[in-house]
Amino acid sequence: MKQGWEAVIGMEIHAQLATATKIFCSCAVETGGEPNSNTCPVCLGLPGALPVLNEHVVELGAKAALALGLQIQETSIFARKNYFYPDLPKGYQISQYDKPFSANGKLRIMTAERDDHGHATEWKPMEIHIQRMHLEEDAGKNVHEGLPDVDKFSYVDLNRAGTPLGEIVTSPDFRTSWQAYDYVNHVRRALQWVGASDADMEKGNLRCEANVSVRRVGETTFNNKVELKNLNSVRFMQKAIEFEIERQIAAHEAGEPVNQETRLWDEKNNQTRVMRSKEDAHDYRYFPEPDLQPLRVTTEFVEKIKARMPEMPDAMRSRFIETYQLGYADASQLVGDKSLAEYFETVARITANPKLAANWILGEFTRELNSSGKPVSQSLTSAEDLAELIVQVESGKINNNQAKEVFAEMFATGKPAAKVIEEKGFEQISDSSAIEKIVDEVIAANDANLAAYRGGNEKLFGFFVGQVMKASQGKANPKVVNDILRAKLR
Ligand code: ZN
Ligand code: MN
Repeated sequence: MKQGWEAVIGMEIHAQLATATKIFCSCAVETGGEPNSNTCPVCLGLPGALPVLNEHVVELGAKAALALGLQIQETSIFARKNYFYPDLPKGYQISQYDKPFSANGKLRIMTAERDDHGHATEWKPMEIHIQRMHLEEDAGKNVHEGLPDVDKFSYVDLNRAGTPLGEIVTSPDFRTSWQAYDYVNHVRRALQWVGASDADMEKGNLRCEANVSVRRVGETTFNNKVELKNLNSVRFMQKAIEFEIERQIAAHEAGEPVNQETRLWDEKNNQTRVMRSKEDAHDYRYFPEPDLQPLRVTTEFVEKIKARMPEMPDAMRSRFIETYQLGYADASQLVGDKSLAEYFETVARITANPKLAANWILGEFTRELNSSGKPVSQSLTSAEDLAELIVQVESGKINNNQAKEVFAEMFATGKPAAKVIEEKGFEQISDSSAIEKIVDEVIAANDANLAAYRGGNEKLFGFFVGQVMKASQGKANPKVVNDILRAKLR
């Protein structure tokens, strides 16, 4: 960022809560279904239909709130947010206004400056103030492509109407695009971690908006802000914010106006462009939803959810560093994904060698997952299987290169280590009498070299090792070979 300027960024995230049914009716939450197939009088907004709050939404909302350091409010009120839009059949969205489900969150995240290649340099903690997370229903979708005569007609699909959302709003705490980036990633992982949301931006079940303005360092008032929308990935979001910061600084310095407006990220041209200029601030004419009771959450309910909360990633990372003596980078990578972290703990426990377990998981295992595009849950190789392989390597039954080959086969087929080792004929010969026999044969066949070795040419030791390994087709345990050769050549 240009010297003398700072950015002021606030984030709004809409996260779809991972319930099986909608927030105020029992229609299924599904993606990819026949348009308008998951609808009923409630989510179609037919006159006289009454909403009934889905209890699972409250549970997942509570998990999300706790995972983000928010305080769950004893009483929250659903409110009607009135606006007209074709994908909103009631003419209002049931949301929450002055009494949100949860508020006043303090969230500690880790954030890093990045070099020119986007690589994190030093990670530092940062505290974010989350003003609120309220519960609301999603709208449907207007469809403008892939259907007949889209130039003549607009289509509306209400399958998404009534899907539960948590809207998470921060104070304007961020000063750089990377802080916002690290925050969104933190929130995404936290929501996935506790099972509150799939938080997949590509699928649209996590959507974020950034409010961006800039000011000269030292100023305490805010300049006009721009709202960035339709950000399809965290990386695009970061780029959009970065672009916006530079654009606004340049405008201010040139004495040009920075308009209060909504802008989109134009992926092709790597720039933001105007979506709509801000008309007068919307008046949504909020009022309490008369068809729903105030939502009261008891202390017992919150305590019950708290008791079921898993250890969160940052706590787990600290524990991995302490208990298993892992480095910060390795531990961070492992807790990047809950299933990976659990996989690691199982392997570490069985092998009693956490360092080696981490190496295998962050090395071969991650490589195979990435190249096959599989999540950990779909790996055919269980943590127990990998642990068994590592134990085989450690006991010297097979060497490292063989183990890598064995693992590739295990990952592809789901076979256990012992089976693949046997099939590949990798079983090492550690039986000393068998190796002794081979050593005797090799020595007998190499009189001249034997004499030279005994005459002082110690380099020939390697020659004998090589011959024995060759004669055993690479299966002899190198340590045993060494021991026996040393004794016999003397
Ligand atoms: Zn419905
Ligand atoms: Mn909203």
